[in-house]
Amino acid sequence: MSVGVLAGKVALVTGAGSGIGRATCRLLARDGAKVIVADRNLKAAQETVQELGSERSAALEVDVSSAQSVQSSVAEALKKFQQAPTIVVNSAGITRDGYLLKMPERDYDDVYGVNLKGTFLVTQAYAKAMIEQKLENGSIVNLSSIVAKMNNVGQANYAATKAGVISFTEVASKEFGKFGIRVNCILPGYIDTPMVAVVPDSVKQQVVQRCPLGRLGQPEEIAEVIAFLASPQSSYVNGAAIEVTGGLK
Ligand code: NAD
Repeated sequence: MSVGVLAGKVALVTGAGSGIGRATCRLLARDGAKVIVADRNLKAAQETVQELGSERSAALEVDVSSAQSVQSSVAEALKKFQQAPTIVVNSAGITRDGYLLKMPERDYDDVYGVNLKGTFLVTQAYAKAMIEQKLENGSIVNLSSIVAKMNNVGQANYAATKAGVISFTEVASKEFGKFGIRVNCILPGYIDTPMVAVVPDSVKQQVVQRCPLGRLGQPEEIAEVIAFLASPQSSYVNGAAIEVTGGLK
């Protein structure tokens, strides 16, 4: 993406204290945006800000699974750079893997709460703020996963939420088009982040063998596509679900 293409824009990235979210903050800032680094883990968000500098970024504590927390984050976010974000990236996500017959209700609810309900709460709250301030050229990018299509054994909760994110994205793109807000999602393959660090080596080896590019992805390789979707260079891309997997199906 071109340096400066996002100048004058404010972006909000959830899950921005780690992995894909942090890499996204890096690239959006590189392209000229001011970035609100939102995470449940404030210390991790502050580390991202330390890397980017406080002129270009600001940390925001938010639990995306809580309507109250998301709602109060909006006023906080508006104060950071005196402008509602027109770029919103829903990268906060968790896994709680386990076989269905043994999956505690809590593990289902937690994954649903962050991955799908969290995407809903943040999208709704920040789209409202954009619409109220009559800001056009908005771009919302949601993180689904190739697991939504691979439907791995042991990931019923995660797969269901990530499939839900694809449908949610498409509906939102249809409802928000008239406000000049585009909504798209990305289906990453296996990306080398703390989320995947807990996956057993044997599983990672199988993934690498199945992946035509023969390796895991790097967070920046997802962030580059997010930066494209955030930019005017993708002005006619709306309601899309883009696989970024090295060819892994
Ligand atoms: P990660 O674990 O490195 O980072 C996730 C971040 O989300 C953490 O900083 C965490 O504190 C934050 N978070 C968790 N719950 C939160 C909440 N309730 N409110 C606010 N923040 C919260 O994960 P990652 O690998 O960077 O994944 C980012 C997104 O990409 C997730 O939605 C994930 O499902 C998706 N994804 C990742 C991969 C992969 O291989 N890493 C593949 C496909 C999709």
